[in-house]
Amino acid sequence: MFCPFCSEQETKVIDSRLVAEGHQVRRRRECMVCHERFTTFESAELVMPRVIKRDGSREPFNEDKLRAGLQRALEKRPVSTERVEEVILSLKSELRATGEREVSSEFLGNLIMNALKELDKVAYVRFASVYRSFEDIREFGEEIARLGD
Ligand SMILES: [Zn+2]
Repeated sequence: MFCPFCSEQETKVIDSRLVAEGHQVRRRRECMVCHERFTTFESAELVMPRVIKRDGSREPFNEDKLRAGLQRALEKRPVSTERVEEVILSLKSELRATGEREVSSEFLGNLIMNALKELDKVAYVRFASVYRSFEDIREFGEEIARLGD
């Protein structure tokens, strides 16, 4: 993202929100050089961040794998497909709203953990007791989203 004032490439996102019913992201950016601020509107499709894995490699976020992972986690639990879809939509919105090109698998793991908490307390407690530490959350994020399997 080039600064429209001085053409510097390094800008930082200072605010990020979804607009147009979640199809666009409005960002306030500040130039790292001249400190001018400007607003951009970006298409939501373009800003789904990639996930940085523990080994440093990057994987595209894959909605189908996440869906399969959540369904596995919720096996035999009384949660409707509709609820799972709602949660996947809101996860995607949260990922986009970060304004980042890449997020860590730990960040993704935390998002999914919170989503699970909302969907089903029993499944949440089950996973939260297994995945407790920083490294565990990374692993959880990677496993449930089946990154690079
Ligand atoms: Zn500038």
